[in-house]
Amino acid sequence: MKEKVVLLGGTGSIGKSSLDVLRSYPRDFYLVGVSGHNNLEELALIIQEFTPQYVCLKEEDSEFIDRFPGINFAWGETGIIELAELSEADTVINAIPGMAGLAPCLAAIRKNKRILSANKEAFVAAGEIINAELDKSDAVILPVDSEHNAIFNLFTRFDRKDISAIKLTASGGPFLRREITEDVAIADVLKHPTWNMGPYITVNSATMMNKGFEVIEAHHLFRIDYDRIKVLIHPQSQVHGLIETIDGSQFICASPNDMRYPIALSLFYPRIPADPPFGKIDMRHQSWEFEEPDWQKFPLLKLAYEVGEAGGILPAVLNAANEIVVEKFLAGFLPFIYIPEIIKQIVDRFENISQPRLEEILIADKKARIMALDIMNAILEQIPDPESE
Ligand code: MG
Repeated sequence: MKEKVVLLGGTGSIGKSSLDVLRSYPRDFYLVGVSGHNNLEELALIIQEFTPQYVCLKEEDSEFIDRFPGINFAWGETGIIELAELSEADTVINAIPGMAGLAPCLAAIRKNKRILSANKEAFVAAGEIINAELDKSDAVILPVDSEHNAIFNLFTRFDRKDISAIKLTASGGPFLRREITEDVAIADVLKHPTWNMGPYITVNSATMMNKGFEVIEAHHLFRIDYDRIKVLIHPQSQVHGLIETIDGSQFICASPNDMRYPIALSLFYPRIPADPPFGKIDMRHQSWEFEEPDWQKFPLLKLAYEVGEAGGILPAVLNAANEIVVEKFLAGFLPFIYIPEIIKQIVDRFENISQPRLEEILIADKKARIMALDIMNAILEQIPDPESE
């Protein structure tokens, strides 16, 4: 029998890769529902190709809905929740980025779904709440993010007591071998050496904030202490994760830097998909490097460990602050080099709340966004305008 899949965020980058995997295995999976916020014409193509029964739009659009009689349409935040809870679906792929991915994640957990999660913000901001809900349900979360997917595939095949550390790899981004100076241009930051991703995550890769978020995500996903989560720079991005066992062995999981690999592995888990049409690494032509991250050059990585260790509302604050500051940078208002300092200032101003309720996390998220704008404006006034000199 085909597994019935709901895809939330079908028109984004992870959504497209997910569709390509479903397209490659038509005998195994059926796309029963899809949501797409970004691009209606793309959504129309998805509907024509995959014939889902349920489609969620950003907002009600009777002209679009009339084009597809026989399909059940929903829209907005409530529509996303309806899709996440869909009784016909076995598996929910959550490819909605940002805090908007949290509510459907919790809804799918409460309905005991198998959840393929590509949303890291929800785990960063509300990891403890997600885990508490998971403990009350029969839902499982399979991480799609390449590093966590690699570690998940190793982790779950070992006895937990035999694992001494997990190691997330990081490409190091465009500034691994380059100094970060005042005049770094947006285009330099968006030139990711190995992965082709959206602009927000590419900036986070350049500051290594992305890896910091992944450390926090790993802490919750694998329920493992921070001192046993390591980061290794691996510029080739082919080894995605490692685990070290108590005898000192290192087990690695490697595949081409193509998101269709982790998506297919999690769709089929615990089985292994046969003959993926996405190519494979030719081991004869590789020279893999691994090195320690430069903690001075990438202070946000260190900050993520501190914030993760502190827990409470601070991870949500870090996530929100980063989102606003990076937005400003991408809009051309802020030099790249200022990003870490501003984020640190925002986090420092918050008094932490331990074991916060979901509402307290959401309030902290909102407060951090407002505060980020205030602090940034104050700092921007002090930065000399290069044009006027
Ligand atoms: Mg990743």
